[in-house]
Amino acid sequence: MRSWPTVAIPPVDPKFSLPKLTLKDTLSGTKKALPTKNLYRMYVCGITPYDATHLGHAATYLTFDLINRYLRATGAEVRYVQNITDIDDPLLERATRDGINWEDLAHSQIELFRGDMVNLHVLPPESYIGAVEAIPLVTEAIEVLQAKNTVYPVESDLYFSVRSDSEFGTRSHYSQVEMSEIFSERGGDPDRVGKKDVLDCLVWLAARPGEPSWPSPFGAGRPGWHIECSAIALAYLKPDPEEDFAIDIQGGGSDLIFPHHEMGASQVAIMTGKPYARTYVHAGMVGLDGEKMSKSKGNLIFVSNLIVTGVEPMAIRLALLSAAYGKDRMWTDAVLEEAKARLHRLQSALSRNEVAPTQECVALIIASLADNLDTVRAIKAIDAWIEQTESGLTGGSSGELSRAIDTFLGIAI
Ligand code: ZN
Repeated sequence: MRSWPTVAIPPVDPKFSLPKLTLKDTLSGTKKALPTKNLYRMYVCGITPYDATHLGHAATYLTFDLINRYLRATGAEVRYVQNITDIDDPLLERATRDGINWEDLAHSQIELFRGDMVNLHVLPPESYIGAVEAIPLVTEAIEVLQAKNTVYPVESDLYFSVRSDSEFGTRSHYSQVEMSEIFSERGGDPDRVGKKDVLDCLVWLAARPGEPSWPSPFGAGRPGWHIECSAIALAYLKPDPEEDFAIDIQGGGSDLIFPHHEMGASQVAIMTGKPYARTYVHAGMVGLDGEKMSKSKGNLIFVSNLIVTGVEPMAIRLALLSAAYGKDRMWTDAVLEEAKARLHRLQSALSRNEVAPTQECVALIIASLADNLDTVRAIKAIDAWIEQTESGLTGGSSGELSRAIDTFLGIAI
């Protein structure tokens, strides 16, 4: 799948030192510093292309964009892979509901998503991989699981046995009852007759009448969602046999903690014999005016719609960065208006001939981001600098600060 055009990142002046990046790890529940490395492997779960790109999606991809930017600023390479679930039940259901071809729906939403990512200044993944193009990889992954006796048939479908991983359930910290409930809410089928464990997940769905299918060693069908990501991550991130973990960062929205990331971690642990991710990072959900934002409520706000009405993409980006990434937050008109006002004050301050000292502000931005992507503190530092500049302080370099804001926060002035 074609990724989107790359975004230039200004280099960091060597006078600024970059501390190790610390991130909140869902598995341990603590903040962990990433080791200093030359190459990081990061996998972020992509969209199912039927409702791109709402603000929740955008907040998630901005979170991992900050990680990508910071690690690159240290001089490291970031091998970043993102999938796109371009075949799955929700996509087919939406296409049927709207009376359109599922492929046309997917293509149109993928185009919108690419455009939104470009507008929001998100660095593209090195590999952007669709589920359909990954079917050969998925069937290979299922064969690896089969060879380890962790896959079994229910009628013509294939299921992964979650109990074959002794660590199953330990990463997401839910009780058995909670896991069953969430599994059911998020596409699982706990009541299917013939499963060994209610939480066992589908890895291959045999062809159904009227639905698309592809040939495989297990008969015609299509891949399950979790195995799609496990297969793509391993094939494109190419884990280093010398490392203790298959990859460095597994990311996505907090609604993927269970079952999606738990299943993926179990599958990869069985396939590779080592823990999946060094760090599991999850972005919080974005609500609207006090309510959960969801397709069922019909209150999703789309990035492309905001841009069409004339909202500057950098204001949207700044608005989404104005709250802690890991917590659930609310989107309101006030949040957007505050971001617009901040952006314009910043543009105006940076365009002055004389500006307040900038070195300390840049150092604060770097230190804040290194501390679990604390964008709230970084923006406070920028606000303080704007006030100093407006009050007439001089001695800084507007170029130095605007470059740092671009490099680390992705806000291009
Ligand atoms: Zn995924």
